[in-house]
Amino acid sequence: MAIDLQEKIRIDIIEDELLRLKGVQLSILRLDEIHPLVSGNKWFKLKENIKDAIATGSRSLLTFGGAYSNHLSATAFAAQAFGLGAVGVVRGLHGKENLTETLKQCEAMGMQLQFVSRNDYAQKESSSFLTSLRIQYPDTYIIPEGGDNEAGIKGAGEIADYIPETATYVALPVGTGTTFAGIRNSLNSRVNMLGFTAVKGGEYLAGEIREKLHTDDEHWQLITSHHFGGFARYNPELIAFMNEFYKLHKVPLDMVYTAKMMYGIYDMVQRDFFPKGTNIVCIHTGGLQGNSAVSQYLQYS
Ligand SMILES: *Cc1c(COP(=O)(O)O)cnc(C)c1O
Repeated sequence: MAIDLQEKIRIDIIEDELLRLKGVQLSILRLDEIHPLVSGNKWFKLKENIKDAIATGSRSLLTFGGAYSNHLSATAFAAQAFGLGAVGVVRGLHGKENLTETLKQCEAMGMQLQFVSRNDYAQKESSSFLTSLRIQYPDTYIIPEGGDNEAGIKGAGEIADYIPETATYVALPVGTGTTFAGIRNSLNSRVNMLGFTAVKGGEYLAGEIREKLHTDDEHWQLITSHHFGGFARYNPELIAFMNEFYKLHKVPLDMVYTAKMMYGIYDMVQRDFFPKGTNIVCIHTGGLQGNSAVSQYLQYS
């Protein structure tokens, strides 16, 4: 690949009174360090897609997302970095005058935005909608929402290479479950995996993940109780947790995914879910660009 963002990845060890008391080791794989606008896991999910796009002679990437989508901004960045054009099909009709920070950044990186109604957006996997997009944008390579395809699963599997062999638990946030499935497929099956779902009612995601797995290994489970009211919802308790975590450990978390995962981990440590001697590696999947929606509440500097 022409650009290497992965050299910046590192692991931070987290230490505090509670962890010491419970005999649990916790560290964070900092995929957020890859790039401020590219969520770490999105980069891995895009890599194999970009290879396919280039190999098939495509001249642009087209993908889908909402007005705060980390996947849209990651795609805009990656397309620009590889000299490809980019089209973002955005859910909801946003006027040019009230673009979110995310969408402004996408445009600044050269992504062409096409706004579609929520009803049309719901058709984004139908062959007639995809065909009309192919006619409108010839030579484009279409990536599903969230990078949720085979290439995305394969690319996410590479994240497993960065997980130390001493880990007994790996925890990460779950949106579509593509990243989770990719890592599960590549990680030693003895290691337990916990996925923290970011939506309300995330139980259905277990089935979606199972379909993406190459193994029937059962050393994994979803934790669905820390959604704080739903996708991208937050309350003062979550914001206070983010500020406290940053103050103690100097690790910024994002409001949609990683803060809810970390809150859940601490809750489970507190309730003795993990036996003494457990070594948890949490994956910081990035997403910090999405904090622009709550930046006035965060003490991150
Ligand atoms: C998109 C995203 C996720 C979810 O990834 P999936 O592969 O869709 O499960 C998790 N964390 C962050 C920061 C993200 O941007």
